[in-house]
Order: sequence, then structure tokens, then C-alpha cells
Amino acid sequence: MPSLFTKIIQREIPAHIVYEDDRVIAFLDIFPVADGHTLVVPKHEKPNALASDSNDLADCWRVIQTLAPAILRATGTEGCVVVTNVGEAAGQSVPHTHFHIIPRRKGDGLPAWPNPPVDQDRLARTAEQIKQAL
Ligand code: AMP
Repeated sequence: MPSLFTKIIQREIPAHIVYEDDRVIAFLDIFPVADGHTLVVPKHEKPNALASDSNDLADCWRVIQTLAPAILRATGTEGCVVVTNVGEAAGQSVPHTHFHIIPRRKGDGLPAWPNPPVDQDRLARTAEQIKQAL
């Protein structure tokens, strides 16, 4: 069954499309975190960005590099977050690879990531575990 985003690509569901080419589509998020919150989606449907072909990801990034500055100009913002959620545990709700472009401005009140202090031994242990897992 096609994903929600494939249905948007196929024009079965309406969306505010701001960019489209033969490989990528971008449209406004229907529940925007900030004005101009945009989703960049490869047309080749895969469940998440870790499963997508690297060519599809490169195509998305090419679009993000053009689109994000335009979104900042249009919304009068100073910066943006570009993020992709992988898996339900990370908050992914639509299982079709997509990147959020979320405009940010200083003092916009959006929650920041917590940065609790961590000891150097813990960092070294974690780095070792990751290298072993590769
Ligand atoms: P994620 O939670 O990372 O999978 O992001 C999915 C995003 O898709 C959410 O931010 C939703 O608000 C957004 N979304 C869901 N349905 C639609 C829709 N019909 N049109 C545009 N955005 C949508």
C-alpha cells in the first residue's frame, strides 16, 4: 500500500507543494512546528532515511540546499533545523523517508535538546561500543 507521501506525490491527497522534480517533492508540513516547516521527500518510497538509496538522499540534500535558504528568506528567519526521524522511537510517524526543514529564530521558544554532563569514561566506552558494532 502506498505511503501517505506517495499519495501526495500521486495527487491523491492535497498538499501545499513548494518544489518538485522527477526525483524529489517538497511540501508544507500540515502540523507545522514553525511557519514554513517543510518536508523534503524522495519519490522512491523507502521506510526511512537509513533504508533509502544514497542517490535518493543526495537528491534530497541537493533540494534542501536550494530550498532552505528560500524558506529562510520567505519567513524572515535566521536559521533552521534539518532533521530526519528514523523509527517510531525517534518520533517517525510516516514510514516514507523525509527531511524536515524547520525555520528557527533566536528566542522562538522551541525546546532545546538537553545536554546533561557526561564523564569522559562513559564517552570513551560508548565510542568503543560503536566502533565494535561497525
Ligand atoms: P515524522 O513524524 O518525522 O514521520 O514526520 C511526519 C510529518 O508529516 C509530521 O510532522 C506531520 O505533521 C506531517 N504530515 C502528516 N500528514 C501530512 C499531510 N497530509 N500533509 C503534510 N504533512 C503531513
